[in-house]
Amino acid sequence: MIRLPQIHVSVVHEKEDIIQAAAKELRIAAKDIQDVVILKKSVDARKKDDIHYSYSLAVSVPQEERYRKKGYEQYIPKKYRYTVTGTKTMHFRPVVAGAGPAGLFAAYLLAKEGYRPLVIERGPSMEERIEAVERFFQEGVLDPEANIQFGEGGAGTFSDGKLNTLVKDRDGKGHFILEKFVECGAPEEILYLNKPHIGTDKLRNVIVNLREEIIRLGGTFRFRTCLKKVVTSEGKLTGIVLSDGTEINTDVLVLAIGHSSRDTIAELFGQGIRMEPKSYAMGVRIQHPRTFIDRNQYGDYADLLPAADYKLTYTAKDGRGIYSFCMCPGGYVVNASSEPGRLCVNGMSDHARDAANSNAAIVITVDPDDYKTATGSDSPLCGMAFQRDLEERAYKAGNGFIPTQRFGDFEKRIPSTGCGAIEPCTKGRVTYTDLNEVLPEQFRSDLIEGIHAFDRMIPGFADADALLCAIEARTSSPVRIPRDETYQSVSLPGLYPCGEGAGYAGGIMSAAMDGIRVFEAIIQEYKAVTE
Ligand SMILES: Cc1cc2nc3c(=O)[nH]c(=O)nc-3n(C[C@H](O)[C@H](O)[C@H](O)COP(=O)(O)OP(=O)(O)OC[C@H]3O[C@@H](n4cnc5c(N)ncnc54)[C@H](O)[C@@H]3O)c2cc1C
Repeated sequence: MIRLPQIHVSVVHEKEDIIQAAAKELRIAAKDIQDVVILKKSVDARKKDDIHYSYSLAVSVPQEERYRKKGYEQYIPKKYRYTVTGTKTMHFRPVVAGAGPAGLFAAYLLAKEGYRPLVIERGPSMEERIEAVERFFQEGVLDPEANIQFGEGGAGTFSDGKLNTLVKDRDGKGHFILEKFVECGAPEEILYLNKPHIGTDKLRNVIVNLREEIIRLGGTFRFRTCLKKVVTSEGKLTGIVLSDGTEINTDVLVLAIGHSSRDTIAELFGQGIRMEPKSYAMGVRIQHPRTFIDRNQYGDYADLLPAADYKLTYTAKDGRGIYSFCMCPGGYVVNASSEPGRLCVNGMSDHARDAANSNAAIVITVDPDDYKTATGSDSPLCGMAFQRDLEERAYKAGNGFIPTQRFGDFEKRIPSTGCGAIEPCTKGRVTYTDLNEVLPEQFRSDLIEGIHAFDRMIPGFADADALLCAIEARTSSPVRIPRDETYQSVSLPGLYPCGEGAGYAGGIMSAAMDGIRVFEAIIQEYKAVTE
C-alpha cells in the first residue's frame, strides 16, 4: 500500500468522497483503488472560511512501484513486538498494585506471557465503583476507597477518555493499546482520529472486558485490597503487606498506584523508598456554553462538526506558564475527591460530548521551590502537602460541595450567590462562594492575567458569567520514584515504580505505555512462573 498524507474533503462527506479525493490525487479512476485504510482523520480549522477534514490514507493501487517512484511512501504498518529473554526464576507470582491503565496493561501482557499476575486494587470492581460514585454525586457522602480516583480502571474511568499523548509512538506501543481498547469494545474510530476519545460511558465496559481477558489468560484480581508496605530481605523485595495485615510473598511488585494514593506513597517513603519532588500544575476548571466554544472554533461549520476543543497557553508577566489542560468538550466538571475533608475537581464527558457546557482546567505550573516555600518543608513529599492544603481550602469554601464562582465576581473578590447566564454542568453539587479563599494570592493574579490573555484568543472567554470551579490540584504526580535502567526502584530491586503516580506518565495513554515498558523490563529479567 502507499501512503497519501493529506487528502482533504468537506466537513460533510461519505467514504466514497474520500476515495474520489484519493483517486484525484493519484490521477486515476476511483475504481482502480482496491483498498483504503484510514490512518488519521483530523479537522483542519486553521482558516475559518475553509474548514475541512484532512485524511492520511494507505491505499492499494495497481503498480504501486510507479507511485513510489513519484515520491509516495510505501505504507508499512508498525507492529508492536517484544521477546521474552529473562532467565531468572520468579519464586512467586508477580503482584501488580493498581488497576489503572498502567497496572492493567502491565498485567495484561504478563498474563498473556504466562506470568500469572496477581492484581490488587484498593478500590472496588467497576460495578460497585459506579454505584459508590453515583451515590457520592447525589448525596455527597465520600467513600475514601471507592471514588473518582480509586477503583477498577483507575483515575481515568470517569473521564473524557481522551487518548492522545505527546509520547512518540516509535515502536507501535500506542497503536497496540488502541487496538486492545477496540478489541475490548471501544469505537473503532479511535484507531485513526487525530484526537481520539472514548467517553466515560463506553470506557467502563472496555475496562471490564480487559479485566475478563486478563483473568482468562491466568491473572487474578483482588479488589478492595490495599498495598500498605513492602517486605524486604537482604536489600531485595520479598513480599508485600496489605492494609489488613496479610502478607503476600513475591519477587516482583509493579507499583502502579496513581497519584492520589498519598497514604501508600507516604508509607513507602517512610520505609526508605527514594522519592523526589516533581513539578505539577494547579488551578481551576472554567465552564462556557458548548455552543459558544463550538462557534468560536468552527464558525458556521459548528453544527456540522463534533464538539470543539481548544488548547491555550500563555506566559504571565512574572514568567509563570499558564495553560488549558484536559479540556472536556460537552462535558461535566466532576467532584474528584478521594480524601474526607478535602475537595478537588476534574472533567469528564460521555462519548457523545453533548452536555451543555465545555470545560477545561486552567492551570499554573508549580515547582518544588513553590511548594517548599508554601509548606516550609523540604521533604520530597511537600508537593503532596501543598495539594492537601489547597484541597482543604476548597472543601471549606464549598462546604463539602464544589466551590464555584462567576469569573466577574472572582475578579472583584465578591462571593457569588448564584450563576449568571451560564448554568453549571457538574457531577456533584456546587456551592457558590469566593474562590479567592482557595487560591494563593500570586496564583490568583496569574490566573486572572491568563484568562484575559485567553480572551484575546477566544473572545468572550473572560466573560463575567464564565464559571470557575476549584480546585484542580491533581494534574500529575507531585513526586517521582526514581528507577534504574532495569526500571526497578533505585532503592529496592524487585519494586517496579510504574505509571503516573511514580512520575512516569501523565494521562491514560502514557500510563498504559509505561505499564508496557515495565512489562518489557520484567520479561528481560525473569522467565514465567512455572508452577
Ligand atoms: C476525572 C478525571 C478525568 C481524566 N481525564 C483524562 C482524559 O480524558 N485523558 C487522559 O489521558 N487522562 C485523563 N485523566 C488522567 C488519567 O486518568 C491518569 O493519567 C491515568 O489514569 C493514570 O494511570 P495510572 O494507571 O498510572 O494510575 P491510576 O489510573 O490513578 O490508577 C491507579 C490505581 O491504583 C489503585 N491504588 C492506589 N493505591 C493503591 C494501593 N495502595 N493498593 C492497591 N491499589 C491501589 C487506585 O485505586 C487506582 O485504581 C483523568 C483523570 C481524572 C481523575
